[in-house]
Amino acid sequence: MTGGKDDKGVDLDIKDAIEGHQRFLREFERDRAFYETLATSKQTPRLLWIGCADSRVVPSQITNAEPGELFEIRNIANVVPPAGSGDAAVGAAIEYGVGHLGIDDIVVCGHTGCGGIAALLEGTPDGHLGRWVAYTQPAHKLIAAARVPEAERMTATVQAHVQFQLDNLLTYPLVREGVAAGTLNIHGWIYDMERGALIAYDSISGEWRGLADMAVPEGV
Ligand SMILES: [Zn+2]
Repeated sequence: MTGGKDDKGVDLDIKDAIEGHQRFLREFERDRAFYETLATSKQTPRLLWIGCADSRVVPSQITNAEPGELFEIRNIANVVPPAGSGDAAVGAAIEYGVGHLGIDDIVVCGHTGCGGIAALLEGTPDGHLGRWVAYTQPAHKLIAAARVPEAERMTATVQAHVQFQLDNLLTYPLVREGVAAGTLNIHGWIYDMERGALIAYDSISGEWRGLADMAVPEGV
């Protein structure tokens, strides 16, 4: 965000986007066959990714995914409003992704340094923002009650918030039934911006572990 203009009066932020798009078009021409296949076949993404809108946390970059591989929902603080809470955007994407596209893995991914989580620590915003970040309240309450030391409070709240969103996912009948039947898996992850690493919640041990250390089946 520079607010500046070039000598022809074009906004510099838009100029950057135009130049970026021109570079993309050259790449598109080089990979024309790949993009043609994408355009002419039904999408078959392998993950439903529910992540934060934060511009620094780019799902396809941190998972090295190609176009067509991630079906994404991004909003402030990677919130999954409980079914029946009045928000239709997340529920609609869950129903479409799981019900119509047949996705069998859902990832809820938080991240360190999340402004959406920090918002309630810095005061209560008003308007739409205030109503939205109220969804992070359960995690704040839990961590406050647990008397977590100040230095660990933010990360602990980010982690607790992801766990609450996994619970909220189960309020959607399609998710609950899929998980019960063993045809759908839900995963809680956090992207550590300082290290570039993903950590994953292990619901059996209750611990968070580095995703990179987890065994990947042979040949995958
Ligand atoms: Zn965030």
